[in-house]
Amino acid sequence: MEHTTMSFMGSWERDIIAHELAHQWFGNKITCGDWEDVWLNEGFATYLNALVIENFDGDTTFRNWRGSTINNITSSPGGSVFITNTTTTGGIFNGMVYFKDAMLLHMLRYKLGETIFFQAIQNYLADPNLTYGYARTIDLQNHFENENGTDLTEFFNDWFLGQGYPSFHLTWDYDKSSQQLSFTVDQTQSHSSVSFFETPFSIMVFGDGQNPEVHRVELTNNGQSFSINIPYEVLAIEVNPHKNIISKNNTVVLGNNDSVLINSITISPNPTKGNLTVNNPSNIEIYDVNIHNMLGQEVFKSNYVGEAISLKGLESSIYIIEIDTINGKLLKNEAKF
Ligand SMILES: [Zn+2]
Repeated sequence: MEHTTMSFMGSWERDIIAHELAHQWFGNKITCGDWEDVWLNEGFATYLNALVIENFDGDTTFRNWRGSTINNITSSPGGSVFITNTTTTGGIFNGMVYFKDAMLLHMLRYKLGETIFFQAIQNYLADPNLTYGYARTIDLQNHFENENGTDLTEFFNDWFLGQGYPSFHLTWDYDKSSQQLSFTVDQTQSHSSVSFFETPFSIMVFGDGQNPEVHRVELTNNGQSFSINIPYEVLAIEVNPHKNIISKNNTVVLGNNDSVLINSITISPNPTKGNLTVNNPSNIEIYDVNIHNMLGQEVFKSNYVGEAISLKGLESSIYIIEIDTINGKLLKNEAKF
């Protein structure tokens, strides 16, 4: 724990050493000007510990840290980085808020890019009006804005003052002839204090025999539509694949599925431990069932004649089931465990 001019450590774990070391700059060299802005101390200390994870343990461990941190933050529908109750120590030094503080810094890094993010923080730490004194959130925001040359008021309103998190609902369609992937992103919010979270937004695109590709857009309005040229047939899309943005309960709908096919063809059981059956009405003939893994590779192909399909040799994962019928193609996801 950090106190005036010094940090106490109750043990010698790497995480605690990193956190308390970070407080020498964020907490001691510059400290928060009000308890409302305690994230200027605790958010940086928590995020600098995460940077130790990134630099010592690698990208995968750092991504897993973001995943579990987001799970922690979204376990409650409310909660803001801005401290609303400064009358109790529990209201100020709140574990969930430490995590949301750290993810707010990560989202700024993701939004602004490596160079601007780290340069703005160096500028903040060298600002003679702040060093060996106090800072408010607006002082840090000004340094990000000056370095980036854009206004971040709306972003800070949503993610610093506002409570809760967004859920993204993506509907997509792929047009083979024009090779266009089109998608629409709707958003709901877990808390009424934010009407719409402005944010960068990424999708991972999976195609037949292709390496998955990440594409990024900026969300500024609800129900925004986008179109991206993809030179191969898209089989599946994953939202927020690298866990760079706080969100939960995201959904993806294959908008190019014909509604008659969606309602009349089912696969069961889902999830499955081994066998899988495709159920179709007699008027919709199935002539092909192909199964792809999330790398887009075909792992099973059959001229379907109604018998159970065995997934026994396949590892536990999500699979894309491509069902070709006389009425068109249907894509469904299947989980194997
Ligand atoms: Zn601390």
